Amino acid sequence: MTQRYELSDLIRTDNFIDGKWMPAASGKRFAVTDPATGEVIARVADSGPADARAATDAAARAFPAWRDTLPKDRAAVLHRWHASIVENADALGRLISLEQGKPFAEGRGEVMYGASYVKWFADEATRIYGDIIPQQQRGKRMSAVKEPVGIVAAITPWNFPLAMIARKIAPALAAGCTVIGKPAEDTPLTALALVMLANDACVPAGALNLISASRDNAQEAVADWLEDGRVRKITFTGSTPVGKYLARESAGTLKKVSLELGGNAPFIVFDDADLDAAVAGLMASKFRNGGQTCVCPNRVYVQSSIYDRFADLLAKRVCALKVAPATDLDAQIGPMINARAVEKIERHVNDAVKRGARVLTGGKRRSELGANYYAPTVLADATPDMQLSCEETFGPVVPLFRFDDEAEAIHAANNTPFGLASYFYSQDLRRIDRVSRLLEAGLVGINEGAISSEAAPFGGVKESGYGREGSKYGLDDYLSIKYLCQGGLE
Ligand code: ADP
Repeated sequence: MTQRYELSDLIRTDNFIDGKWMPAASGKRFAVTDPATGEVIARVADSGPADARAATDAAARAFPAWRDTLPKDRAAVLHRWHASIVENADALGRLISLEQGKPFAEGRGEVMYGASYVKWFADEATRIYGDIIPQQQRGKRMSAVKEPVGIVAAITPWNFPLAMIARKIAPALAAGCTVIGKPAEDTPLTALALVMLANDACVPAGALNLISASRDNAQEAVADWLEDGRVRKITFTGSTPVGKYLARESAGTLKKVSLELGGNAPFIVFDDADLDAAVAGLMASKFRNGGQTCVCPNRVYVQSSIYDRFADLLAKRVCALKVAPATDLDAQIGPMINARAVEKIERHVNDAVKRGARVLTGGKRRSELGANYYAPTVLADATPDMQLSCEETFGPVVPLFRFDDEAEAIHAANNTPFGLASYFYSQDLRRIDRVSRLLEAGLVGINEGAISSEAAPFGGVKESGYGREGSKYGLDDYLSIKYLCQGGLE
C-alpha cells in the first residue's frame, strides 16, 4: 500500500545518505524561504565536502548490488516510487508552490510531469538491449552489451524542483547506476521529499543520496564530486556558465557529462499562421512558471503585415493574467523566485524601453503584492541591440520583434549562441519543412507551444548543452557499451 502524507510530513531538513537522514557534518544549516512572502519555511543542512564524500562512499558501496539487481526488480522499485509520487501529488504540488512560488495547478502539474519520467524509465529499465554482431571470423563471437556507467552526480535548478531531479534520478536508477544529488539552494525541500518517497518505495540504502547546500558552500561540496574518480557521470540542469565550469572541472577525471543549459528561444509567427492559435501557443509556452523555464520563448518575431494585429490580441490576453500568490487558487502568475530574478527582469525592461521599446502592458513591478512580483509585460518594437534579445530574461516579458521575410526571421532566430527550444506558426507545408530544418535548436514546436513529454528527447545544441533526457534516448547517457569478443569456438 502506498502511504499518503500531509504536507508537513513531507518536510525533511537533513541530508539523506546511505538510507539515513543526517545533519551536515559541520552542523550548519541555511534558510529556505517562501518567495511570496520572504518567510522562512525551514532550515536545511548546509553541506560541505565531508558530506559530499560520505554520499559518494555510500553510492560506491551500494553500486555492485544495484547494478546486479534484475532489471525487472529495478523497474518494480521505480514503479512503486511512481505510485507514491502520484498518491502524494497534492501535497507535493503544495510544497512546490510554497518554496518555488508557482501556482498550485502548475505545481501539481509538475508533479505529474515529473512522475511520468519515473514511470517511463521504470518501463525502459527492462528494455536495455545490446547487439549480437554478425560473425566476422569463424570461431569468434562478438557482441555489445550495455552497462551502467557507475555513480552519477545530479545537480539541479530551482524552476522545476521535482521534475528536473526526477528525470535524472529515474533513468540513472533504471540503468543500474547509483546517485548522489544536490538540488538548488532555493528549493531543496521538494527534492528531499521525493527522496523520502523513494526510500518508502524500497530504493536500497546508498543507491540514492541527496545533500543540500547553500550557494556559498555548493561549489566546494560539488568540487569533491568533480575531483573524485569514482563519480563517473555529471548530469546538470542550470545556467550555461555553471555548466561550462562543471564540464571543465570534470575533465580532470574524464567523466561523462550531460548538460541542459540556458536557452534564448525564438517564437516566429509568419503571416500565414492561424493567429488565434499562435497567441494561445505563445501564452501557454511563455507564461508557464511565470516565464521561468528554459524553453519559454524569449524573443517573439512577428511578420510585419500581421504585427499590429498580433500585438493587440496578445496584449489583451496578457493584461488579463491574474498575478497572485500560489495560495490563491486562481493565480496564473506567482512571485519570481528571488530578488535577483526580479532585478534582472527590471534591468531588461528598462534597457529595452531606453532603446525605444513601447510598453503595451505591464512594464513594472507589482510591489503591492510583495517584493518578488513583476507584471506580465508585452513590449513592441524590440530590436537586437536590447539586452533581452541576447540574454534569457527568465520572467513574464514578451518582446515583439518585427520581420519582413522568412530568411530574415531564420537568421535572427539563429543569431544566438544558444539552441534549446524554438517555435514557429505557419500553415504552409513547404515552409514548415524548410523552417524546421533550418532552426538551430534541439526542440522545435510547430504550431504548438506545449512540447515537453517524457516520451520525447529533451536537450539542446550549441551552448544550450548536450545529452538528452526522456524518450528511448534518455538512458544512453547513463550507460556505456562493452564489446565482448569470445574466441576458441571452432
Ligand atoms: P540559476 O542561476 O538559475 O540559479 P545555476 O546554474 O546557478 O542556475 O544553478 C543551478 C544549480 O547549480 C544549483 O543547484 C546551484 O546550487 C548549482 N551551482 C551553482 N553554482 C555552482 C558551482 N560553482 N558549483 C557547483 N554547483 C553550482
